[in-house]
Amino acid sequence: MIKHLAEMGTMVDRALKSIDGGQPIDREEATRTIFQRIGVFLSDNRLGPDPVNYAFAYRVMIDPVGPLAKAVAALTDGGVRLTKRDIMALGGDVGNAPVTPVAEADRKAGEGLVAQTQMQVEGFQDLVMAMRSETRDFGRDLAAKADAIRESSGAGASEAVMRITTAMLDRVQSAESQLEAATREATDLRAKLEEARDNARRDPLTDLPNRRAFEECYAEHLAKGDAMCLAVCDIDRFKLVNDSFGHAVGDRVLKAIADVLASECDGHMVARYGGEEFVVLFSGVDMAAASDLLEGARALVAKKRYRLRESDEPLGEVTFSAGLTAAGPGEEVGEVFVRADRLLYTAKADGRNQLKMG
Ligand code: GH3
Ligand code: MG
Ligand code: MG
Repeated sequence: MIKHLAEMGTMVDRALKSIDGGQPIDREEATRTIFQRIGVFLSDNRLGPDPVNYAFAYRVMIDPVGPLAKAVAALTDGGVRLTKRDIMALGGDVGNAPVTPVAEADRKAGEGLVAQTQMQVEGFQDLVMAMRSETRDFGRDLAAKADAIRESSGAGASEAVMRITTAMLDRVQSAESQLEAATREATDLRAKLEEARDNARRDPLTDLPNRRAFEECYAEHLAKGDAMCLAVCDIDRFKLVNDSFGHAVGDRVLKAIADVLASECDGHMVARYGGEEFVVLFSGVDMAAASDLLEGARALVAKKRYRLRESDEPLGEVTFSAGLTAAGPGEEVGEVFVRADRLLYTAKADGRNQLKMG
């Protein structure tokens, strides 16, 4: 903790030196300046001083020439204000995520698996040590009896060899069955770990990858230098579906739209970003091809006549809007997302059920 604070102090100094042209500054003054600048930042962007906004502003101020500050500068260029959504997309919720019962259950399940894995590893270590000591004993027994075997003749010698060998065979057999059981356990555990890893990256309702999986996939493409386009899609007036027909019907609509997006944009990553929002990460195609695929999905959803399973009653028009943008070379996911998200909101403002590119 003390070390952390000391590092923080150094960062504050460095941050202030870079804000104020490299001149060292009094520490009390430094703290006051940072605090004031955070206040100005929040007020300029009309953001409340809640912990998420405050922590975000702090991260911007503490490294004024870093990637986050640059992303904020690019977004607010020309007097555009930052929104709470922008902050979230730029990682403002990191470390502030609410603990939901599902997240808590996942965490507990994860802890259980870690404990099991640790026990397995320790079990293997014990087993290997036991086997090594067995073989050492066998070698010692053989060496001890070697002279006697050599000296005695006929039946006596073969009897001694037989006794030692039988004892060793028994031990090997028991070690083998223990090893077999441990291997079965390890295979089982590996499957459970894979399942847990997959669950942490999949949305259970739509069975699509989730935001975490999407961000990892983006980072992988980024590291390889792949060209990418990103679309943010949001179901139009979805609250109305829930309010009119109930949450369960809303869930089914979400799943149906997820299926259309996934099949129309096959080969690209379609993920549920959260709520009634999806992202499509196109790689290896240009904007024209990406917009064709997305437009196909949009038109297909708009054309479908969704009906209530129970009464066949029509749900009315269900549509989605989308914003599509190309990622610049080396551009971080948060920045690209914010751009696509702003295009999405233009699509909403211009009447919904449409795609905006930029
Ligand atoms: P807009 O066209 O502006 O996007 O309008 P909207 O009604 O879709 O937007 P708003 O943000 O007001 O409402 C989104 C709704 O999506 C509210 C929330 O209850 C619903 N929603 C989010 N996640 C789920 C979910 O998993 N299942 C269901 N059934 N509804 C959800
Ligand atoms: Mg929404
Ligand atoms: Mg919506």
